[in-house]
Amino acid sequence: MTVLSCPEARSMVSDYIDGDLPPALARSLEEHLQSCPWCPPLYASLVETLADLKAHDDAAGVERLVARVLDAIARPSDGP
Ligand SMILES: [Zn+2]
Repeated sequence: MTVLSCPEARSMVSDYIDGDLPPALARSLEEHLQSCPWCPPLYASLVETLADLKAHDDAAGVERLVARVLDAIARPSDGP
């Protein structure tokens, strides 16, 4: 099994949400989300907000949010 670092896992999150991630990588990402203390809250808030925007059919809002959130979560959460 591949062990992902946080930056690796975070770089895959958008593809994972879109269903574009190969099954083996999706599995590794799920394993990371289960064992990592930092990524799951970020992932959960992204999924939640995306679902909300999609429910309102706000495609432009979804794109803006994805860009903003991915930029935010790509930064280390445990350092300056
Ligand atoms: Zn992580």
